[in-house]
Amino acid sequence: MPKIKISQAILTGLADDGGLFIPETIPQIDQKKIPQGISFPEFADLFLQAFFEGDELQKHVSDMCSSAFNFPIKISSLGGKNQLLELYHGPTSAFKDVGARFLSECLQKLSGKLQKELLILVATSGDTGGAVASAFYKKRACRVGLLFPKAGVSPSQKAQLTCWGENIQSFEVSGSFDDCQRLVKSAFQNQALKDKYYLTSANSINIARLLPQAAYYAYSSKNYFDSFSKPAKYIVPTGNMGNVYGAFLAKACGFPIAEIVIATNANKTISDFYTEEVYKPRASIKTLANAMDVGAPSNMERIQYMYRDISKLKQLSSVILVTDSDIQKTIKNVHAKDGIVICPHTATAFFAKEMLDSDGWILVATAHPAKFTEVIEPLIQQKIDVPDVLNELTSRPKSYTSINAQLDELLAFL
Ligand SMILES: *Cc1c(COP(=O)(O)O)cnc(C)c1O
Repeated sequence: MPKIKISQAILTGLADDGGLFIPETIPQIDQKKIPQGISFPEFADLFLQAFFEGDELQKHVSDMCSSAFNFPIKISSLGGKNQLLELYHGPTSAFKDVGARFLSECLQKLSGKLQKELLILVATSGDTGGAVASAFYKKRACRVGLLFPKAGVSPSQKAQLTCWGENIQSFEVSGSFDDCQRLVKSAFQNQALKDKYYLTSANSINIARLLPQAAYYAYSSKNYFDSFSKPAKYIVPTGNMGNVYGAFLAKACGFPIAEIVIATNANKTISDFYTEEVYKPRASIKTLANAMDVGAPSNMERIQYMYRDISKLKQLSSVILVTDSDIQKTIKNVHAKDGIVICPHTATAFFAKEMLDSDGWILVATAHPAKFTEVIEPLIQQKIDVPDVLNELTSRPKSYTSINAQLDELLAFL
């Protein structure tokens, strides 16, 4: 396996052979030596330093953490020893802000040494595009092309994908999400484009998006241990296995994590993997938790590498599959019983909690419910308060270009 510096892995995204990058050795971090009660940016600095040892970015990690994590990672009580890890207080109200903002900091620092302008191409149907656009908006030496399918994004999603301009170009593609992905792939192979730009991608396979996701598990597990003198147990809504990989990685670094429950929507690949012990990717199906509509989770490769013995993986973790009707029931029940409004992704974790006998879980909340008003308001029969950040985004003027799913049409604008 080729070994490269972490900054090169961040610039490239994917290895030449199509594989994903992982840390060569997983740093061991003694959480007892980390002071109690420090802020998330301070904690993330301590945690991430260990992965950048000897790299040109190491001296910038501290600054990058304070710029990237300029919004709260909130931990709230759900009663008893149960907690909610709220990851959606960033500028686009979804947990993808955490990874996208740290990636943006890294690429800005690294772009200075490149001979060409950096062009980031992203095919998106959900939260990724908005988080990436927001993270790179008005950043020098970085240009972003967002491709989204004409049919297949909701009006509020479209508003968040097209409210940018400046160095962010949005393309509405006449076709499906798969057409968008195909276009991005063929753009990456186009020699003329490669001559003009340094091309990279910003999807969740980039290691710079994953590492800060491990940081919030490390942070919340330490906080849990400090409060209850017990290791934490998580329920994590996941699709591409990126969110949950962070939990596995934090545990591997030595943080007090006893159990990980993977909550998925009706896409069965992960739950079939746990029952049949073979990984069989399949086509994705559409669900209400649409940011988790993944049939071939790319980070599975990283999890399988970490746990070459499936029985060890199964000792630590399990999967609960949640259907759309269970998502709907859960949104309704949680609102009626606890007075909390949750998004359809977060609802998979709440449903899974009901299926489990034991208590004392940290449920991971991945998006603000106001991003999914179309689904939630009819269920709870009530208007959802929209955070100011989202209102501000959706009220901006729209700018985007409509193209057919043809490479030459895309290239004409880049
Ligand atoms: C992307 C996303 C997920 C799933 O994250 P993975 O990294 O694909 O596991 C869950 N919830 C929301 C709101 C998301 O945007």
